[in-house]
Amino acid sequence: MAKKKIVIIGGGYVGFEVARELDACADVTLIEQREAFVHPPAAIRALVEPALLDQIILPYDNLLQSGKVVRGRAVSVSETEVTLESGAVFPADYILIATGSSYAAPFKPSGDSIADFQQASKDVSAQLAKANSVVIVGAGAVGTELAGETASAHPGKSITLVSSDDTLFPKYPAKLGAQLKGKLERLGVTVILGQRAQDLRHLDRPYEGSVSLTDGRVIAADLVFPVVGSKPQSSLVQSLPGVSADALGRVKTDKWLRPSSYPNVFVGGDIADIGDGMTIVATARQNPWLIKTLKKVIEGAPVESQKPYAPWKKAPILVPLGPVIGSSWLFVTVGDWITRKIKGKDIFIPKYRKAFGISSSGK
Ligand SMILES: Cc1cc2nc3c(=O)[nH]c(=O)nc-3n(C[C@H](O)[C@H](O)[C@H](O)COP(=O)(O)OP(=O)(O)OC[C@H]3O[C@@H](n4cnc5c(N)ncnc54)[C@H](O)[C@@H]3O)c2cc1C
Repeated sequence: MAKKKIVIIGGGYVGFEVARELDACADVTLIEQREAFVHPPAAIRALVEPALLDQIILPYDNLLQSGKVVRGRAVSVSETEVTLESGAVFPADYILIATGSSYAAPFKPSGDSIADFQQASKDVSAQLAKANSVVIVGAGAVGTELAGETASAHPGKSITLVSSDDTLFPKYPAKLGAQLKGKLERLGVTVILGQRAQDLRHLDRPYEGSVSLTDGRVIAADLVFPVVGSKPQSSLVQSLPGVSADALGRVKTDKWLRPSSYPNVFVGGDIADIGDGMTIVATARQNPWLIKTLKKVIEGAPVESQKPYAPWKKAPILVPLGPVIGSSWLFVTVGDWITRKIKGKDIFIPKYRKAFGISSSGK
């Protein structure tokens, strides 16, 4: 019997893993607009350790055994097919849309070109090496890690981290934010809380300039990093019938991660408003559910007879401040040693190289 056709749009953390795990039991087509996967957590450290850049760009060539990875941009989805910008049409029994999110440069590619991403990272890395003063606006995980990586690698620089919240990581037990604040301050970082930056000149890239805070302070810096969060890339899924989205653009779904009136179209990752954060940690919960559910459905079981998806109640988080120190919440707050062992020392680079069939030496 012919295998069921599944078309997966977006080869990020959801798309690549679900494609790989369904490869043996379905006819898988993974549509991805870029020629390679990029591992953004390590794009932060690559700014102070540029040699890492080549390690975190992973071509799709060895990902699938029987399925195919097609380079192209999906522009429309129906119940039965996916159409690319090139006009190519891929028939599908099931479709998974995982088009993810964009982020300010140089942390994720801003377009399709990996060469442009590499250049943006190298340029900012050179600017950062020269800068005496750095202001980081936004103290989520990316901003906090950037402050820690920069202070660890360049102890002489003046680094200021600005957050509009009154504590770091306010959604987590207070101990996590307090530990991270103390560690950043010991690294020489000035942490300004409860202040909003009023006048960011750019939201999509770092620049030289100044930042005005709500209390009237103006901080001039050789490099201002706007690090204010991910933007869901959900226009494709929003064009489906019956889709509704939150203010940010993440789409609502039924209990089985279906966003529209098409019963065979699923979503996952940053575009899905299903109670999880926009994190890889979220995809680590969603992917096993998607893989298990899609396998059953491909075998002919009704979607509605499958266990509904349940999001993280409170997802764990790992926040290294450079390769050695950091704090994490792994259902309890833990410090340097565990954060370093799990994430700080190699930022999961070997794990993803292995997943893409690339050895540590690059072959
Ligand atoms: C600097 C940085 C550091 C981070 N660090 C961490 C961390 O340490 N831990 C953590 O849990 N999370 C982290 N995150 C968040 C994490 O990167 C995202 O949650 C994750 O990328 C979401 O995965 P995804 O599969 O939903 O989407 P993405 O990884 O964004 O992948 C979506 C893919 O879809 C492709 N695509 C989009 N539209 C189309 C289309 N129309 N046609 C074809 N292809 C398309 C894109 O090119 C992309 O490859 C970090 C984010 C950033 C920016």
